[in-house]
Amino acid sequence: MKALLEYLDSRTDETIRTLDGLVRIQTAVPPGENYMRAMELAGRNLEELGFQVETIVMPRELFEKKNPRLLHLTGDRANLSAKLDVGAEKTLLINTHLDVVPASPNWTVPPFECTVKDGRIYGRGVADSKGGVAALITLLSAMSELDIKPNFNLNIALTTDEEMGPYSGLCYFADLGKLEADYFLSMDGDSDDITIASNGNVDWQVDVIGRSYHSGSSFLGINAIEKSIPVMNELMELKANIEKKRSKVPASMAISRMTGIKTLMPVLNITMINGGVKQNVVPDRCTLKGDRRFIPEENYDDVRKEFIDALSKVRKEHPDIILKWSCDEIYAPLLTDMKHPWVNKVKSVADDVAGRDVSLAGAQGSLDVAYAVKVTGLPACCYGIGRRTQSNTHSDDENILIEDLVMYTKFLGKLLSS
Ligand SMILES: [Zn+2]
Repeated sequence: MKALLEYLDSRTDETIRTLDGLVRIQTAVPPGENYMRAMELAGRNLEELGFQVETIVMPRELFEKKNPRLLHLTGDRANLSAKLDVGAEKTLLINTHLDVVPASPNWTVPPFECTVKDGRIYGRGVADSKGGVAALITLLSAMSELDIKPNFNLNIALTTDEEMGPYSGLCYFADLGKLEADYFLSMDGDSDDITIASNGNVDWQVDVIGRSYHSGSSFLGINAIEKSIPVMNELMELKANIEKKRSKVPASMAISRMTGIKTLMPVLNITMINGGVKQNVVPDRCTLKGDRRFIPEENYDDVRKEFIDALSKVRKEHPDIILKWSCDEIYAPLLTDMKHPWVNKVKSVADDVAGRDVSLAGAQGSLDVAYAVKVTGLPACCYGIGRRTQSNTHSDDENILIEDLVMYTKFLGKLLSS
């Protein structure tokens, strides 16, 4: 083990070079056009290490059926499955995504290459989530050179469209049965906490229907925007009740420190409003949209029922309001038992390598990992490289500390060989 850890230190430049190769392939989505090239690069590396490698493209018809809002995306939705059977008793599934969010013109360094500066590596995707892939490739090649066999058979799934969703490459792999394993490590996380839970996500839409008329005689029409006010008031009342609930799962350290909120909480948001065509026309429609994040202790049917109850109240109090509504579960919540032996193992290795108590926490956002876990029932831990308050994930000048990248290769090394 000592030899492996020292060897990993000496391979830092190589890890950065591998990461640079991945960052230079522009997999920003939208449009997500170069997935195939990213998979070829990662696949070549893993094939050389003895993995059985398969590139799987999600059929266009399936992609469009499952992601009706993503029809504008072009290019093959390519994903990689790489398996190594070392004759171990248990199999470990390791996953992350190779798509990234686009870069704004405000970057101070070129986004699609790695710039090393002041102990940090800058580049789009270094934290979310190409750094993990580079660390994994270095670790596996170091283990192979030192002739150290992993304690698990490995099932590596590198997938795409996580940044768009809802039906990402990982969801497709889950449905294809490509995620067979005993344990699940998602590298799509940060290094602040080990994420073992996340909120589920429901998208909702309410259409308030009115009747258009000349605004000079607006009393002869039905103003859909004005009629949407009681709907919004009722939703705000529902929001207040929902947001009083708390999960038993601890919130992330960053959230607790910033807000004092100690455990995961549900939220209801109105995030879009659309109505009207002109100042002098009574609007005949007002569309409200939003999302509802629900904690692992809640379920989709209850979330749906809350909506139905709130909207029936509006209908009863305002019989003149005509409204249509719909809601869809985008992701289920994720919850891995915090006492599961796999969680203990990941935590003890992370504690050891980071030299601190790495907490187990839930994410307020929603993850495609939750879909995979819903299908496979695997115990899952998400742990990655970036730091939430420093890495600028999804923002300008995304970066990681070089020492965090090296630490992550060591984390993987200890996890696979202890
Ligand atoms: Zn990510």
